[in-house]
Amino acid sequence: MTRTIEVVHSTNKKPKPNADNIAFGKYFSDHMFVMDYSEEKGWYDPRIVPYAPITLEPSAMIFHYGQTVFEGLKAYRTPDDRILLFRPEKNFRRLNLSSERISIPAIDEELALVALKKLIEVEKEWVPALEGNSLYIRPFIIATEPNINLTPANSYQFMMILSPVGSYYKEGIKPVGIYVEDEYTRAVKGGTGTAKTAGNYAAAYKAQERATEKGYSQVLWLDGVEKKFIEEVGSMNVFFKVNGEVITPELNGSILEGVTRMSIIELLKDWGVPVIERRISLEEIYQAYDRGELEEAFGTGTAAVISPVGELNWGQRNMVINNREMGELSRKLYDTLTGIQTGKIEDRYNWTV
Ligand code: PMP
Repeated sequence: MTRTIEVVHSTNKKPKPNADNIAFGKYFSDHMFVMDYSEEKGWYDPRIVPYAPITLEPSAMIFHYGQTVFEGLKAYRTPDDRILLFRPEKNFRRLNLSSERISIPAIDEELALVALKKLIEVEKEWVPALEGNSLYIRPFIIATEPNINLTPANSYQFMMILSPVGSYYKEGIKPVGIYVEDEYTRAVKGGTGTAKTAGNYAAAYKAQERATEKGYSQVLWLDGVEKKFIEEVGSMNVFFKVNGEVITPELNGSILEGVTRMSIIELLKDWGVPVIERRISLEEIYQAYDRGELEEAFGTGTAAVISPVGELNWGQRNMVINNREMGELSRKLYDTLTGIQTGKIEDRYNWTV
């Protein structure tokens, strides 16, 4: 495999969005990374080229059987004008794990990181300086072979595109209301469960629609088999603080292994806060609530970092958590993680690149 990454510079630079109010996911930078795969050559021709539409045949396999995976991470600008990535090697590792599940050939994770650094170098002006803003990075792979036979494709494209995004919390952090979804299932063990593949996300829309209609901001997902055990909230992992102890659902084949999740577990352990990964039933959380022991609840993910849960609605059983205020531990985790990500707090863990 060649390690030279050719760069073709764009001659048509786009205006940057207004830093005060950047809508998520709508703006894309001037360049993208592309690499192709064929059975004969493996992954080949890694290159940075102007961001532009791509051409595929209508029969391209991505349109038919959903053979695609993606990732999401961010680049942050520090007060002293450096650009940091947060544990990017974890995202490329996870991309390959997702690919493995749906028969997409693995990429060279080291090459992907070299390519990402080079792409960010080319696009450094696109990393916003305003506090809270960042550059969202979307690596993804699609099956490009023109063929509607039901088999894994023999050609793929791996791409990385960049999108400047605004602060998740423009009006400060407000705990959100969560609706327990007990009909639809997001993902199951043995299915595409933990994979970051498109179908798992399309499958979530219906429930999200219902939560929105009922006035809640996200869905709490239960396991797909018994509908008893807590999995995730929206597209975030979830943590509860019960009687001084932090608990989070253990990785079970259907829960996504969040990079934020693993960082929080590591932080808590480092701080000496008891943290346990195990199976958690909703009933158990309700009983802890009933006893007055449910102290905090929060979702975790790249987009929000920490999203405190102020209300959890499970039909007749409605839980208002910590007076709808952000808990002390949630606040400390948020400040520490965002501090490390943006270079304001010393990175004792070597997480930033
Ligand atoms: N769960 C799901 C279903 C997700 O899509 C994400 C976002 N990648 C997460 C959890 C959080 O993962 P991370 O902390 O790596 O962003």
